[in-house]
Amino acid sequence: MKKQIKKSALTKSGKKGLVVASIGSFLSNLAHLAPIFIVMFFAQQIILKTDLSIPLYLGIIAGAGIVMYIFIDIGYDKTYNETYKEAVALRIDIANKLKELPLSYFSTHDVADLSQTVMQDVLDIGHALSHAIPQMFGAIAFSILVATGMIAFNPIMGLAIFTPIALSFVFLALSKGSQTRASKKYFDVLRENADAFQQAIEMHQEIKAFGQKESVQKDINKKIDHSEKIHIKSELAQAVPVILANIMLKFSLGACIFAGIQVFDFSQPLHLLYFLGYLMASVALPDAFATLHENIAEILYMDARLKRIAELRSVETQAGEPYDLKSFDVEFKGVEFSYKDGVKVIDGISFTAKQNTVTAFVGPSGCGKTTVLRLMSRLYDYDSGEITIDGKDIKTIDADSLFDKISIVFQDVMLFNTSVLENIRLGNRSAADEEVKKAAELANCTEFIEKLPEKYDTFIGENGAKLSGGERQRISIARAFLKNAPIIILDEISASLDVENEMAIQGSLNKLLENRTVVIISHRLKSVENADKIIVMNEGKIDAKGSHDELLKSSELYRTLIEKSQATEKFAY
Ligand code: ADP
Repeated sequence: MKKQIKKSALTKSGKKGLVVASIGSFLSNLAHLAPIFIVMFFAQQIILKTDLSIPLYLGIIAGAGIVMYIFIDIGYDKTYNETYKEAVALRIDIANKLKELPLSYFSTHDVADLSQTVMQDVLDIGHALSHAIPQMFGAIAFSILVATGMIAFNPIMGLAIFTPIALSFVFLALSKGSQTRASKKYFDVLRENADAFQQAIEMHQEIKAFGQKESVQKDINKKIDHSEKIHIKSELAQAVPVILANIMLKFSLGACIFAGIQVFDFSQPLHLLYFLGYLMASVALPDAFATLHENIAEILYMDARLKRIAELRSVETQAGEPYDLKSFDVEFKGVEFSYKDGVKVIDGISFTAKQNTVTAFVGPSGCGKTTVLRLMSRLYDYDSGEITIDGKDIKTIDADSLFDKISIVFQDVMLFNTSVLENIRLGNRSAADEEVKKAAELANCTEFIEKLPEKYDTFIGENGAKLSGGERQRISIARAFLKNAPIIILDEISASLDVENEMAIQGSLNKLLENRTVVIISHRLKSVENADKIIVMNEGKIDAKGSHDELLKSSELYRTLIEKSQATEKFAY
């Protein structure tokens, strides 16, 4: 646990805040003990008939009151404020980390899982941070101090009270494994549920269309029932050791009375007073330690969540320095890449996409065309070989500098639930409204935007739900116009454009592509016939490259693709 905190679950300021909060909690514990000490001290003075003046008594009480107030106030302030600040900092820190993660991380982790980490885990850790962790450290320091004092004052009495307390902690430590295993199991099940919910929501259209509502509902209900059982088991795995440990604490009182009878001479008032002091401690301390047991259980429950955040933190982000690219030839030299270990999706490909030319990729579905574009833009990092732009290995250029020079239009367009204007402005945050509108015009968006209820200010729903596929596609093309980057990557942009729209943007699209490095994928082979270079891919390798006319002569695969493409165009329902 301490290792986890030390390692990476908390931010730097959070670790410092935790130390401060623990000291605050220690001082607060100490302050709560002060009245008992004062009463004991006064009683002792009365028994010993010490000549203490009334002002001195009042002075001690007033002094103790002020110190108590300060300690409790500091304790509260440091414990809660510092740790709540950390809960906020932790969430921001994780969000920043997510921003820097390579896309490959997201293809191996569920979005539901990540959002659960950012929202729920951080909330739970925030609670543990403000309600359990500093209290635990504070209580440990406090108990060491009190135990040392009580054992030093009277070893037999001190040991009688603290032996059951110490044993209860040993017992709790022994149950650590089963507690963390059970809470990890529950944690995993919660993740699976969140994933199933997310999938059911995202796929609701398909689920309805294929009449799968009942079976999906049944499946989810089964998952919830299962998680309920796991939850009960995990609660039991925690509650049983805590209850047993709390019962062990109660032995302190019995041990105190038994030892007191042996040690003290009750005919002496002073002995009686000391016995009463130990008796009070044996009643009060077990209550405090029972809270500590619960704090420890909460922290053990956090174990899986802390590990999850630590794991997220330890993911390597893409390295690279800021670099101002000046020329824009993109070169692949023997590049290899796998999404999953052992399955090569790109298998040693080499080519150059020259500046001021259009390079088109064609090939059967799944041969790796989109992957080539992803590698080129560092959405994923290649495994071996080299990719250079301006002669510089792109792995040495930081992602922001690279993205600055690349515009990508994907076939799956992602839009934000904000206005049309702001969605286009994503291409260039500093663009004025007029520039945004000009880009929209070039991408042939004006017609449909004018029909929207609030024109450019219309909110377009989550991921542009209120727009058609073609309209979304044109917004993403408008972004590219606005960005005006020297390298342009177009991934199947005609897939969701109808012929009318494609023709309408053709002229301006050609203007956009002038004097740039253009890399394009299109299944409509007719649209790439004029490309300067066509690269035919098959199963992760380059089958042939050249102009349309050259390939017609040299590549059988290209001829087959052309035939299939023509057949598709003739296809009628
Ligand atoms: P194309 O664009 O030629 O249709 P892709 O580059 O999209 O092909 O895909 C090449 C191969 O990589 C396919 O087998 C596909 O299933 C696989 N693939 C694509 N994206 C991922 C991903 N994110 N994770 C794992 N495998 C992927």
